[in-house]
Amino acid sequence: MSVALRLEGLSKRFGQTLAVDRLELEVPPGTFLTLLGPSGCGKTTTLRMVAGLEQPSSGRILLGGRDITELPAHQRGLGMVFQSYALFPHMSVFENVAYGLRNQRLLAAEIRRRVEAALERVGLGGLGDRAPHTLSGGQQQRVAVARALVLEPPLLLFDEPLSNLDAKLRRSVRAELRALQQELGITALYVTHDQEEALALSDRIAVMNAGRLQQVGTPEAIYRYPANPFVAGFIGMTTLLQGEAQPNGQGVRVRLGSVVLEAYTPEPFTGPAVLALRPEDVRVGEGELSAVVRRVAYLGERFEVYLESPWGEVLAYVPSEVRPRAGEAVPFRVAWATAYPA
Ligand code: ATP
Repeated sequence: MSVALRLEGLSKRFGQTLAVDRLELEVPPGTFLTLLGPSGCGKTTTLRMVAGLEQPSSGRILLGGRDITELPAHQRGLGMVFQSYALFPHMSVFENVAYGLRNQRLLAAEIRRRVEAALERVGLGGLGDRAPHTLSGGQQQRVAVARALVLEPPLLLFDEPLSNLDAKLRRSVRAELRALQQELGITALYVTHDQEEALALSDRIAVMNAGRLQQVGTPEAIYRYPANPFVAGFIGMTTLLQGEAQPNGQGVRVRLGSVVLEAYTPEPFTGPAVLALRPEDVRVGEGELSAVVRRVAYLGERFEVYLESPWGEVLAYVPSEVRPRAGEAVPFRVAWATAYPA
């Protein structure tokens, strides 16, 4: 089986709204793929169609090569992990994990064996008698994963499972989930609107906007080589500028007033350009260009600096030991930029 999940021309219309528009996507076995995009981009609807909770308007869903488009949700055999894990608070960890097996007419000994094996797999062996609230956030997450894994699904679906956690807990649970996925080689489709979460967790990210797939790639590829201005602007606090481009080998040269910058572009082109600059790629304190520091916000490990540049306002991150001051003239350079036809 070369592909665990394949979506072919998958669309969903709600009245006038085309929530998902001819989506083509593959999830290879052992891959953690995240659907990422702003609110309303169609990611939850996509996940719900895969789960069988929503019927597609057109297109096909293939699981391990088998067409499951018409199959009812309960016959798809997929594991689901929801917001805040949705553990049953009045049940023990064991009973939470056993829940999905209870209506499968299995012998008690078989249920016990499978639940204990699932708890062992997620590193919670021996904690079956505990109540969920006595576990850490990361351990609760593991119970939710064990509950889904015990059914031995070919694919796990995650619907923003971390969204109700506070920021600090979210980070640590995120790291645990990534480690768990790598240990177990889970095949997963994960939905989030949080770009940092997507970058930290995924093998591959599919960025969506307005129902359409924008780009699929590794976190590094999505971050470094955004396919279009939407992806460039959605990931990070990107500054977008207008310029004029000329092809230059694999990339382009973009003229911004009297300055020419080299930029990566998916396809070299000539003419009006949108130039995308990430704040971490705008290096303040070095370089040929000059700007005036307009506003400064201290963020602990760095400053967020708004520069009044020859092209208008540009956001830069500056390490906190540099201590930029408002009103000060500073040199700067652009270490990496991406450009797109305007
Ligand atoms: P969020 O992160 O806010 O959940 P999303 O990216 O998951 O957003 P969807 O929930 O898939 O987006 O919604 C996509 C579009 O479809 C939105 O415009 C939404 O209003 C619409 N939509 C979703 N479900 C329904 C429904 N049951 N009836 C009508 N419109 C719907």
